[in-house]
Amino acid sequence: MAIYVEAAKCIGCEACIPACPYAAIEMVDDIATFTEDCTSCGACAYACPTGAIVLEMGARDEVDTTEYSGIWVVGEVSSDNELAGVTAELLGEAKRLAADLDDAEVSVVVMGHNIDHLAAAAAGWGADKIYMVDHEVLARYRTGPFTDVLTGLINKHKPEIVLYGATTKGRDFASRVAARIKAGLTADCTELSINPETKLLEQTRPAFGGNVMATILCEFTRPQMATVRPKVMSPQDFVEGAEAEVVPINVSLDEKTVATKILEVIHDDSGSDVNLTEADIIVSGGRGLGGPEHFAVVEELANALGAAVGASRATVDAGWIPATHQVGQTGKTVHPKLYIACGISGAVQHLAGMSSSDCIVAINKDPDAPIFNVAHYGIVGDLFQVVPAMVAALKEKGRV
Ligand SMILES: Cc1cc2nc3c(=O)[nH]c(=O)nc-3n(C[C@H](O)[C@H](O)[C@H](O)COP(=O)(O)OP(=O)(O)OC[C@H]3O[C@@H](n4cnc5c(N)ncnc54)[C@H](O)[C@@H]3O)c2cc1C
Repeated sequence: MAIYVEAAKCIGCEACIPACPYAAIEMVDDIATFTEDCTSCGACAYACPTGAIVLEMGARDEVDTTEYSGIWVVGEVSSDNELAGVTAELLGEAKRLAADLDDAEVSVVVMGHNIDHLAAAAAGWGADKIYMVDHEVLARYRTGPFTDVLTGLINKHKPEIVLYGATTKGRDFASRVAARIKAGLTADCTELSINPETKLLEQTRPAFGGNVMATILCEFTRPQMATVRPKVMSPQDFVEGAEAEVVPINVSLDEKTVATKILEVIHDDSGSDVNLTEADIIVSGGRGLGGPEHFAVVEELANALGAAVGASRATVDAGWIPATHQVGQTGKTVHPKLYIACGISGAVQHLAGMSSSDCIVAINKDPDAPIFNVAHYGIVGDLFQVVPAMVAALKEKGRV
């Protein structure tokens, strides 16, 4: 990848200077000129109004894969300025992969504002090195500045593997970075491993409606990048007081150059803001409920157990419940201690999102329903009799 200025096209407007996150452009004789801090992130090329700055991508066989090493996790910072759970999970997975890559270094990139306290958390979850990028423009995730910063870091430090959470932010971010650096990206992986012979990252994900598991390789480009859904990988045990090398990264970001502005953050208090992925207990309803009004049956059991309410896609598609409740391949992947499926048949796409739950209880009137193949406890019966009986039993025990 190379970046250069076509002097004849440069009009000396200086639009590139505030666009550069690494303050690596100065004007020499009214022509934009790169300093040695340039990371070829390309932010200036996008800001240049005359096309004078050219970002040239090499052909795929020009990428020297031997220059790349180490595994990076892109840290996600939650709205309360803490490290999101998915980052701990990715660090755990990165450590496991590193063991098969001659103990490669595991680093995490944390971008945000007032984030010093996150270094201890990242170290405790297993990071060997932490790149800390603290700037007020990064206080909340926005595609533009986050992409500029991470692209520059990747170009400079050349990690071999980069992992992102397949969250709303991670999906948006990873795809933009992949396009900018012309690297491959495998979305929504459920399994990662290192091929013992080629040392390539094997990125496995469901394909063709979940009927086939596809393993994808990025042989020619670097880094090899993947998004992984929350709750699919397990974190390592947290090590209190663990130490890691902290690398502060100075960036020069100008709010005026960011195309998107966050005017207000509005929390969804409509009841549809369900944190299924964090819930310890989930009670889910399926088409067996027969209509939207009968979700009350599921909600009553959920309330009694302090559980979140989940749903099959059939009920979401029917408009019985908002999509934020959907569990499964195109919904959320969950890993609760207890998952109670009420009137759900157990289609492979539903199982893709919940079959790793610690304990699954299925209630279905069809004894041959596939959900019973994954259930630890199966109740063959009418949910309209079984679920109220469960609630009554909980009431009897003083739980409600
Ligand atoms: C690309 C793709 C992605 C998909 N993604 C998802 C996904 O993310 N999540 C998802 O859930 N699905 C997904 N699906 C849809 C999936 O294939 C099924 O259609 C869906 O899961 C079925 O939902 P269900 O089990 O609620 O309904 P059904 O399959 O209709 O099952 C209803 C069950 O209720 C039982 N029942 C009926 N009445 C009662 C009663 N009174 N008491 C007890 N049991 C009763 C029936 O015996 C039956 O087993 C996807 C499909 C495709 C093609």
